[in-house]
Amino acid sequence: AKDAGRGCFQFYSNEMNAKALQRLRMENELRKAIENQELRVLYQPKVDVEKREFIGVEALVRWENPERGMVSPAEFIPLAEESGLIIDIDHWVLKTACAQAVEWQQTLGIEIPVAVNVSALNFKQDDLVEQIQKALSMTGLPPSQLELEMTESVVMRDVEENTVRLNKLKAMGASISVDDFGTGYSSLSYLKRLPIDQVKIDRSFVRDIEESAEDRAIVNAIIAMATSLKLDVLAEGVETDEQTRLLKQAGCQRLQGFLYARPMPAEEAAALLKAGFNK
Ligand code: C2E
Ligand code: CA
Ligand code: CA
Ligand code: CA
Repeated sequence: AKDAGRGCFQFYSNEMNAKALQRLRMENELRKAIENQELRVLYQPKVDVEKREFIGVEALVRWENPERGMVSPAEFIPLAEESGLIIDIDHWVLKTACAQAVEWQQTLGIEIPVAVNVSALNFKQDDLVEQIQKALSMTGLPPSQLELEMTESVVMRDVEENTVRLNKLKAMGASISVDDFGTGYSSLSYLKRLPIDQVKIDRSFVRDIEESAEDRAIVNAIIAMATSLKLDVLAEGVETDEQTRLLKQAGCQRLQGFLYARPMPAEEAAALLKAGFNK
Protein backbone atom coordinates (compact mmCIF):
# COMPACT_ATOMS: atom_id res chain seq x y z
CA ALA A 1 0.00 0.00 0.00
CA LYS A 2 2.94 2.23 0.84
CA ASP A 3 4.44 1.64 -2.57
CA ALA A 4 1.19 2.31 -4.28
CA GLY A 5 0.91 5.56 -2.38
CA ARG A 6 4.35 6.59 -3.44
CA GLY A 7 3.61 5.58 -7.00
CA CYS A 8 0.56 7.73 -6.91
CA PHE A 9 2.52 10.70 -5.64
CA GLN A 10 5.14 10.09 -8.30
CA PHE A 11 2.44 10.07 -10.92
CA TYR A 12 0.90 13.33 -9.78
CA SER A 13 4.20 15.06 -9.41
CA ASN A 14 5.24 14.02 -12.92
CA GLU A 15 1.97 15.28 -14.22
CA MET A 16 2.45 18.55 -12.39
CA ASN A 17 5.94 18.91 -13.78
CA ALA A 18 4.64 18.31 -17.26
CA LYS A 19 1.99 20.98 -16.75
CA ALA A 20 4.50 23.45 -15.35
CA LEU A 21 6.85 22.76 -18.23
CA GLN A 22 4.09 23.24 -20.75
CA ARG A 23 3.18 26.56 -19.16
CA LEU A 24 6.78 27.65 -19.19
CA ARG A 25 7.06 26.77 -22.85
CA MET A 26 3.90 28.64 -23.68
CA GLU A 27 5.09 31.66 -21.71
CA ASN A 28 8.33 31.73 -23.65
CA GLU A 29 6.51 31.47 -26.95
CA LEU A 30 4.13 34.21 -25.90
CA ARG A 31 7.12 36.36 -25.03
CA LYS A 32 8.29 36.09 -28.62
CA ALA A 33 4.81 36.46 -30.09
CA ILE A 34 4.92 40.25 -30.17
CA GLU A 35 8.25 40.57 -31.96
CA ASN A 36 7.33 37.69 -34.28
CA GLN A 37 4.15 39.57 -35.12
CA GLU A 38 1.91 36.67 -34.18
CA LEU A 39 -0.67 38.78 -32.38
CA ARG A 40 -3.76 39.96 -34.22
CA VAL A 41 -6.53 42.31 -33.28
CA LEU A 42 -10.10 41.48 -34.19
CA TYR A 43 -12.84 44.10 -33.97
CA GLN A 44 -16.35 43.41 -32.75
CA PRO A 45 -18.90 46.12 -33.58
CA LYS A 46 -21.42 47.38 -31.01
CA VAL A 47 -24.85 48.56 -32.11
CA ASP A 48 -27.65 50.81 -30.95
CA VAL A 49 -30.81 48.95 -31.93
CA GLU A 50 -33.07 51.98 -31.45
CA LYS A 51 -30.95 54.40 -33.46
CA ARG A 52 -30.07 51.53 -35.77
CA GLU A 53 -26.41 52.41 -36.01
CA PHE A 54 -22.97 51.14 -35.12
CA ILE A 55 -21.74 52.92 -32.01
CA GLY A 56 -18.26 51.49 -31.61
CA VAL A 57 -15.94 48.53 -31.96
CA GLU A 58 -14.14 46.49 -29.32
CA ALA A 59 -10.59 45.37 -29.97
CA LEU A 60 -10.05 41.71 -29.03
CA VAL A 61 -6.62 40.13 -29.23
CA ARG A 62 -5.79 36.78 -30.85
CA TRP A 63 -2.56 34.82 -30.94
CA GLU A 64 -1.83 33.16 -34.24
CA ASN A 65 0.99 30.72 -33.60
CA PRO A 66 2.44 28.64 -36.47
CA GLU A 67 2.35 25.48 -34.34
CA ARG A 68 -0.52 26.09 -31.97
CA GLY A 69 -2.82 27.70 -34.50
CA MET A 70 -5.26 30.36 -33.32
CA VAL A 71 -4.96 30.61 -29.53
CA SER A 72 -7.92 32.16 -27.73
CA PRO A 73 -7.32 34.90 -25.15
CA ALA A 74 -9.10 32.73 -22.58
CA GLU A 75 -6.06 30.46 -22.86
CA PHE A 76 -3.22 32.94 -22.82
CA ILE A 77 -4.50 36.06 -21.01
CA PRO A 78 -4.35 34.38 -17.56
CA LEU A 79 -0.78 33.27 -18.28
CA ALA A 80 0.06 36.72 -19.62
CA GLU A 81 -1.36 38.28 -16.44
CA GLU A 82 0.74 36.07 -14.17
CA SER A 83 3.95 36.63 -16.09
CA GLY A 84 3.43 40.35 -16.61
CA LEU A 85 3.47 39.93 -20.39
CA ILE A 86 -0.04 41.33 -20.48
CA ILE A 87 1.40 44.82 -20.13
CA ASP A 88 3.25 44.59 -23.44
CA ILE A 89 0.30 42.87 -25.06
CA ASP A 90 -2.18 45.53 -23.92
CA HIS A 91 0.12 48.32 -25.09
CA TRP A 92 0.45 46.70 -28.46
CA VAL A 93 -3.30 46.20 -28.79
CA LEU A 94 -3.88 49.80 -27.71
CA LYS A 95 -1.50 51.24 -30.33
CA THR A 96 -2.83 48.93 -33.02
CA ALA A 97 -6.46 49.75 -32.29
CA CYS A 98 -5.83 53.51 -32.13
CA ALA A 99 -3.92 53.40 -35.43
CA GLN A 100 -6.74 51.39 -36.97
CA ALA A 101 -9.39 53.87 -35.90
CA VAL A 102 -7.35 56.71 -37.40
CA GLU A 103 -6.92 54.79 -40.64
CA TRP A 104 -10.66 54.14 -40.91
CA GLN A 105 -11.25 57.81 -40.41
CA GLN A 106 -8.70 58.93 -42.97
CA THR A 107 -9.30 56.39 -45.72
CA LEU A 108 -13.01 55.68 -45.35
CA GLY A 109 -14.32 58.68 -43.48
CA ILE A 110 -15.64 56.39 -40.77
CA GLU A 111 -15.51 57.95 -37.34
CA ILE A 112 -16.07 55.21 -34.78
CA PRO A 113 -14.94 54.94 -31.15
CA VAL A 114 -12.65 52.04 -30.43
CA ALA A 115 -12.64 50.17 -27.10
CA VAL A 116 -9.67 48.34 -25.64
CA ASN A 117 -9.54 46.01 -22.64
CA VAL A 118 -7.27 47.11 -19.82
CA SER A 119 -6.05 44.20 -17.71
CA ALA A 120 -5.90 44.27 -13.92
CA LEU A 121 -2.12 44.49 -13.91
CA ASN A 122 -2.03 47.20 -16.55
CA PHE A 123 -4.60 49.27 -14.71
CA LYS A 124 -2.33 49.37 -11.66
CA GLN A 125 0.77 50.60 -13.51
CA ASP A 126 1.98 54.03 -12.51
CA ASP A 127 2.56 55.03 -16.11
CA LEU A 128 -0.86 53.91 -17.37
CA VAL A 129 -2.04 57.42 -18.22
CA GLU A 130 1.30 58.23 -19.82
CA GLN A 131 1.18 55.08 -21.97
CA ILE A 132 -2.32 55.84 -23.19
CA GLN A 133 -1.40 59.46 -23.86
CA LYS A 134 1.56 58.22 -25.87
CA ALA A 135 -0.57 55.87 -27.98
CA LEU A 136 -3.01 58.70 -28.69
CA SER A 137 -0.38 61.23 -29.69
CA MET A 138 1.58 58.66 -31.71
CA THR A 139 -1.45 57.73 -33.76
CA GLY A 140 -3.30 61.03 -33.70
CA LEU A 141 -6.53 59.51 -32.38
CA PRO A 142 -8.69 62.05 -30.54
CA PRO A 143 -9.09 60.89 -26.89
CA SER A 144 -12.86 61.15 -27.20
CA GLN A 145 -12.68 58.24 -29.66
CA LEU A 146 -11.05 55.92 -27.14
CA GLU A 147 -12.98 53.79 -24.70
CA LEU A 148 -11.29 51.84 -21.91
CA GLU A 149 -12.91 48.65 -20.64
CA MET A 150 -12.01 47.47 -17.16
CA THR A 151 -13.70 44.63 -15.32
CA GLU A 152 -15.92 45.31 -12.36
CA SER A 153 -13.66 43.28 -10.06
CA VAL A 154 -10.69 45.50 -10.96
CA VAL A 155 -12.49 48.83 -10.72
CA MET A 156 -14.24 48.06 -7.44
CA ARG A 157 -11.26 46.59 -5.62
CA ASP A 158 -9.69 49.82 -4.37
CA VAL A 159 -12.32 52.45 -4.88
CA GLU A 160 -10.48 55.37 -3.28
CA GLU A 161 -7.33 54.84 -5.28
CA ASN A 162 -9.17 53.93 -8.46
CA THR A 163 -11.27 57.08 -8.37
CA VAL A 164 -8.07 59.12 -8.66
CA ARG A 165 -6.81 56.87 -11.42
CA LEU A 166 -10.05 56.94 -13.38
CA ASN A 167 -10.33 60.71 -13.01
CA LYS A 168 -6.96 61.08 -14.71
CA LEU A 169 -8.12 58.92 -17.60
CA LYS A 170 -11.35 60.91 -17.83
CA ALA A 171 -9.46 64.21 -17.73
CA MET A 172 -7.51 62.98 -20.72
CA GLY A 173 -10.80 62.67 -22.58
CA ALA A 174 -11.20 58.89 -22.82
CA SER A 175 -14.40 57.17 -21.69
CA ILE A 176 -14.62 54.39 -19.16
CA SER A 177 -16.68 51.19 -19.32
CA VAL A 178 -17.07 48.70 -16.52
CA ASP A 179 -16.81 45.25 -18.11
CA ASP A 180 -18.41 41.99 -16.91
CA PHE A 181 -20.82 44.00 -14.81
CA GLY A 182 -23.04 42.07 -12.40
CA THR A 183 -20.48 39.43 -11.53
CA GLY A 184 -18.68 41.35 -8.80
CA TYR A 185 -21.40 42.34 -6.31
CA SER A 186 -20.57 46.05 -6.48
CA SER A 187 -21.89 48.41 -3.94
CA LEU A 188 -24.20 50.85 -5.66
CA SER A 189 -22.83 53.80 -3.74
CA TYR A 190 -19.39 53.09 -5.18
CA LEU A 191 -20.81 52.98 -8.64
CA LYS A 192 -22.23 56.43 -8.13
CA ARG A 193 -18.91 57.82 -6.92
CA LEU A 194 -16.71 56.42 -9.63
CA PRO A 195 -16.20 58.51 -12.79
CA ILE A 196 -17.51 55.94 -15.24
CA ASP A 197 -19.53 56.30 -18.44
CA GLN A 198 -20.92 52.88 -19.15
CA VAL A 199 -21.57 49.46 -17.66
CA LYS A 200 -21.44 46.33 -19.79
CA ILE A 201 -23.81 43.65 -18.54
CA ASP A 202 -21.93 40.38 -18.36
CA ARG A 203 -22.68 37.77 -20.99
CA SER A 204 -23.57 35.16 -18.37
CA PHE A 205 -26.78 37.07 -17.50
CA VAL A 206 -27.69 37.77 -21.11
CA ARG A 207 -27.19 34.13 -22.04
CA ASP A 208 -29.94 32.87 -19.74
CA ILE A 209 -32.26 35.85 -19.83
CA GLU A 210 -34.93 33.89 -21.72
CA GLU A 211 -35.11 30.90 -19.36
CA SER A 212 -34.10 32.33 -16.02
CA ALA A 213 -36.42 34.71 -14.19
CA GLU A 214 -33.57 35.46 -11.77
CA ASP A 215 -31.19 36.50 -14.51
CA ARG A 216 -33.95 38.56 -16.09
CA ALA A 217 -34.47 40.30 -12.75
CA ILE A 218 -30.76 41.02 -12.39
CA VAL A 219 -30.50 42.39 -15.91
CA ASN A 220 -33.58 44.58 -15.39
CA ALA A 221 -32.17 45.87 -12.11
CA ILE A 222 -28.80 46.72 -13.65
CA ILE A 223 -30.46 48.57 -16.52
CA ALA A 224 -32.77 50.50 -14.20
CA MET A 225 -29.93 51.41 -11.88
CA ALA A 226 -27.53 52.44 -14.65
CA THR A 227 -30.24 54.54 -16.26
CA SER A 228 -31.09 56.34 -13.04
CA LEU A 229 -27.39 57.05 -12.46
CA LYS A 230 -27.29 58.44 -16.02
CA LEU A 231 -24.81 55.82 -17.15
CA ASP A 232 -24.89 54.17 -20.53
CA VAL A 233 -25.64 50.48 -20.37
CA LEU A 234 -24.65 47.88 -22.95
CA ALA A 235 -25.48 44.18 -23.01
CA GLU A 236 -22.78 41.84 -24.31
CA GLY A 237 -23.13 38.36 -25.76
CA VAL A 238 -26.47 38.93 -27.49
CA GLU A 239 -27.15 35.93 -29.71
CA THR A 240 -30.92 35.86 -30.31
CA ASP A 241 -33.80 38.10 -31.34
CA GLU A 242 -35.64 37.16 -28.16
CA GLN A 243 -32.73 38.38 -26.01
CA THR A 244 -32.79 41.61 -28.00
CA ARG A 245 -36.53 42.00 -27.40
CA LEU A 246 -36.20 41.49 -23.64
CA LEU A 247 -33.24 43.85 -23.38
CA LYS A 248 -34.97 46.56 -25.42
CA GLN A 249 -38.08 46.17 -23.33
CA ALA A 250 -36.01 46.68 -20.18
CA GLY A 251 -34.51 49.84 -21.64
CA CYS A 252 -31.17 48.65 -22.99
CA GLN A 253 -30.60 49.61 -26.60
CA ARG A 254 -26.84 49.27 -26.80
CA LEU A 255 -26.00 45.70 -27.74
CA GLN A 256 -23.01 43.62 -28.72
CA GLY A 257 -22.96 39.96 -29.70
CA PHE A 258 -22.80 37.34 -32.40
CA LEU A 259 -26.36 38.16 -33.51
CA TYR A 260 -25.09 41.52 -34.77
CA ALA A 261 -21.44 40.88 -35.53
CA ARG A 262 -18.66 38.53 -34.51
CA PRO A 263 -15.18 39.75 -33.75
CA MET A 264 -13.66 40.17 -37.23
CA PRO A 265 -10.52 41.33 -39.03
CA ALA A 266 -10.20 45.08 -39.61
CA GLU A 267 -11.06 44.91 -43.33
CA GLU A 268 -14.27 43.02 -42.67
CA ALA A 269 -15.24 45.34 -39.85
CA ALA A 270 -14.60 48.34 -42.11
CA ALA A 271 -16.84 46.89 -44.83
CA LEU A 272 -19.61 46.30 -42.31
CA LEU A 273 -19.30 49.78 -40.80
CA LYS A 274 -19.29 51.28 -44.29
CA ALA A 275 -22.43 49.34 -45.28
CA GLY A 276 -24.20 50.53 -42.13
CA PHE A 277 -26.45 48.75 -39.66
CA ASN A 278 -29.26 46.94 -41.44
CA LYS A 279 -30.36 44.02 -39.31
P1 C2E B 1 -14.53 40.37 -22.76
O1 C2E B 1 -13.80 41.67 -22.72
O2 C2E B 1 -15.70 40.22 -21.87
O3 C2E B 1 -14.91 40.17 -24.29
C1 C2E B 1 -16.09 39.54 -24.72
C2 C2E B 1 -15.82 38.12 -25.16
O4 C2E B 1 -17.05 37.51 -25.53
C3 C2E B 1 -14.92 37.99 -26.37
O5 C2E B 1 -14.20 36.77 -26.25
C4 C2E B 1 -15.93 37.89 -27.52
O6 C2E B 1 -15.41 37.25 -28.66
C5 C2E B 1 -17.00 37.08 -26.88
N1 C2E B 1 -18.32 37.31 -27.46
C6 C2E B 1 -18.80 38.45 -28.01
N2 C2E B 1 -20.09 38.28 -28.41
C7 C2E B 1 -20.42 37.01 -28.08
C8 C2E B 1 -21.64 36.23 -28.23
O7 C2E B 1 -22.66 36.68 -28.75
N3 C2E B 1 -21.59 34.95 -27.77
C9 C2E B 1 -20.47 34.42 -27.21
N4 C2E B 1 -20.53 33.15 -26.80
N5 C2E B 1 -19.33 35.13 -27.04
C10 C2E B 1 -19.31 36.40 -27.48
P2 C2E B 1 -12.66 36.68 -26.55
O8 C2E B 1 -12.32 37.54 -27.74
O9 C2E B 1 -12.30 35.24 -26.58
O10 C2E B 1 -12.01 37.36 -25.28
C11 C2E B 1 -12.16 36.80 -24.01
C12 C2E B 1 -11.66 37.74 -22.94
O11 C2E B 1 -10.26 37.93 -23.06
C13 C2E B 1 -12.26 39.13 -23.03
O12 C2E B 1 -13.54 39.15 -22.43
C14 C2E B 1 -11.23 39.93 -22.28
O13 C2E B 1 -11.44 39.83 -20.89
C15 C2E B 1 -9.96 39.23 -22.64
N6 C2E B 1 -9.27 39.98 -23.72
C16 C2E B 1 -9.45 39.93 -25.06
N7 C2E B 1 -8.61 40.78 -25.69
C17 C2E B 1 -7.89 41.40 -24.72
C18 C2E B 1 -6.83 42.39 -24.73
O14 C2E B 1 -6.39 42.92 -25.77
N8 C2E B 1 -6.33 42.76 -23.51
C19 C2E B 1 -6.80 42.21 -22.34
N9 C2E B 1 -6.25 42.64 -21.20
N10 C2E B 1 -7.77 41.30 -22.31
C20 C2E B 1 -8.31 40.88 -23.48
CA1 CA C 1 -14.38 43.77 -22.89
CA1 CA D 1 -17.25 41.28 -20.80
CA1 CA E 1 -15.73 38.40 -19.86
